[in-house]
Amino acid sequence: AGAILEVRDLHVRFRTRRGPVQAVDGVNFSLAAGEILGVVGESGCGKSTLCTSLVRLLPENAEVTGSIRYRGEELLTKSGAEMRELRGREITMVLQNPMTAMDPLFTVGNQLDEVLRHNSSMRGEERRSRALEMLRLVHIPSPVERLRSYPHQMSGGMKQRVLTAMATSLSPGLLLADEPTTALDVTIQEQILRLLADIRGSLGTAIVLVTHDLGVVRRITDRVMIMYAGRAVETGDTEAIFTDPKHPYTRALLASIPRIGHTGRRLTAIDGQIPDLADLPPGCAFAPRCPSAMSGCTTAFPPAFNTGPERTARCWLHEGSPA
Ligand code: SF4
Ligand code: MG
Repeated sequence: AGAILEVRDLHVRFRTRRGPVQAVDGVNFSLAAGEILGVVGESGCGKSTLCTSLVRLLPENAEVTGSIRYRGEELLTKSGAEMRELRGREITMVLQNPMTAMDPLFTVGNQLDEVLRHNSSMRGEERRSRALEMLRLVHIPSPVERLRSYPHQMSGGMKQRVLTAMATSLSPGLLLADEPTTALDVTIQEQILRLLADIRGSLGTAIVLVTHDLGVVRRITDRVMIMYAGRAVETGDTEAIFTDPKHPYTRALLASIPRIGHTGRRLTAIDGQIPDLADLPPGCAFAPRCPSAMSGCTTAFPPAFNTGPERTARCWLHEGSPA
């Protein structure tokens, strides 16, 4: 099969009035077709920047280096037109806020038709049946009537499902979902997530799911990348990481999940502040909050040590494991 997406040594730096901000710092990962990768960490750790860089939608003041290969092709050297084409059909996104992502002036049917029309050679009848098929796939009741609805006639959860239908109607190879459920209430969150898992199952779409909700990550992802201060501090198989976290930051995240009740799966605070990306401490950026910090930790940033089969952790505790 091979990887559908291969990211190597990715760096994203923003030029700002306060000086350079290193938002993504040497990230490596690959994703197989149909695989779901969870990207996890507190706000401000570079998750959204990473996601946005993959589709080349970062603002002008961003400098991106490294390599992003999609189906073997380098994305960082593609033209704007080539990227638009890819974003229309191959690599699509579902974002946090469904309220602003639909055009209020057009019906669901118009908007789905527009996606299909711009990006495929389907004829009118085919587009209509594909639109209905997609609405059924995302569990929209009465899809025929729904085609005539305007965004304001739908709830937030319904809109997010329609947006998911739009994003996946051309069977993309890769779906980037950045906190797709954060703005929705808990029961709707559950439906959207089950939907993402279904889509992977029925369309074979690989998914990068950015979230700070660890409960969600454990239920639907295959692999996880834990980010801290723009770096991938731990990567590996989801179940292996949840049962045996190797990085002190991952341990702190897992310890912060409330153990009782179904409502509070959201992260609660970990002691200490996330570091300022414009002013990172030397060495390991987690050192000021790390209960296991040693004297050498503030001198040099740890490389990615292998901590198990296809697992890495960037932490000096694992020095001696092959880097
Ligand atoms: Fe803690 Fe040191 Fe590991 Fe950083 S490198 S997480 S400070 S033990
Ligand atoms: Mg974000």
